[in-house]
Amino acid sequence: MIVKLKRNANQTDVTHLKEHLRNQGFELHESIGTSYSIFGVVGDTASFDMRSLYAYECVESVVRVQEPFKKVNRKFTQEDTIIDVNGVRIGGDNIVVMAGPCSVESKEQVDIIAKAVKEAGAKILRGGAFKPRTSPYSYQGMGVEGLQILKEAGDKYGMPIISELMSTENIDDFLQYVDIIQVGARNMQNFHLLKELGKLDKPILLKRGFSNTIEEWLMSAEYIMAGGNNNVILCERGIRTFEPYTRNTLDISTIPVVKKLSHLPVIIDPSHAAGKWDYVESLSLASIAAGADGLIIEVHHDPEHAMSDGAQSLKPKKFEELMTKAETVSSAVGKTLER
Ligand code: PEP
Ligand code: MN
Repeated sequence: MIVKLKRNANQTDVTHLKEHLRNQGFELHESIGTSYSIFGVVGDTASFDMRSLYAYECVESVVRVQEPFKKVNRKFTQEDTIIDVNGVRIGGDNIVVMAGPCSVESKEQVDIIAKAVKEAGAKILRGGAFKPRTSPYSYQGMGVEGLQILKEAGDKYGMPIISELMSTENIDDFLQYVDIIQVGARNMQNFHLLKELGKLDKPILLKRGFSNTIEEWLMSAEYIMAGGNNNVILCERGIRTFEPYTRNTLDISTIPVVKKLSHLPVIIDPSHAAGKWDYVESLSLASIAAGADGLIIEVHHDPEHAMSDGAQSLKPKKFEELMTKAETVSSAVGKTLER
């Protein structure tokens, strides 16, 4: 951390500031200029609220040089993290595709979609049973029965399952039925939920909130890892911008940025980014080309009658076509999409 002092700073105030920093266990390297003085503050500043220094009148500006996240940081773990979900490896040189309906609607619906996505080469089955809907009058999901339906299909087709958890009260059900717990965009900063998930060892797919910075997202991952759960998968699903042609704007630059900052796998959700099925293929291929570790895609055999997100759901045939192209792009960037 670097602290720049104001020109003509009051020396008593500066002495108090120095004492304060030394009392926190930091070492100070002073550089005194004719106009400005600067302190290099050395030590572990991760838990230090650097903005608190602006309370000192002598402080002009404070700049952090160390990222506030540790366990998530590639500086601490150089190797890519690979998360093994019942034999499906997420991260490294693999491209993993998760697919399924936005919402679990019935046993028949899940069975049809699971069979189709499995045949096309998806490795993990997705489906929402607890739905975070903007309107309380929209379909809210089947609850625990939905998880049971998903698990049954997962067992039948040999696919681990992923579903979104909204509340700590359902953790036991998720431990019983689900292989990857999804934290949705709206809950990315539900710190109580994140802390509870930190106590588990189940993989967590942490979506980026639609108005959150990359650093805030990585700090949320840090919450889970700080609790002891290292099995964190990051998921970019589009952020809110001024552009209405798409539901969200897929922030493709998160891929190289997060890959540089962190060792955790990055999965892209082109469905919630696009909001329309006919943009999903391009965004998927671009994501793999940019270095993503996989995709999570909404698929529905009858999207016109889907209970949620039909507009962005691919029909099985389109999904299969996407998978063929995704396989080609994967090998072009030296990765393998096993089907
Ligand atoms: C979902 O995956 O169906 C979902 C609601 O995602 P998000 O949290 O990204 O909106
Ligand atoms: Mn959805």
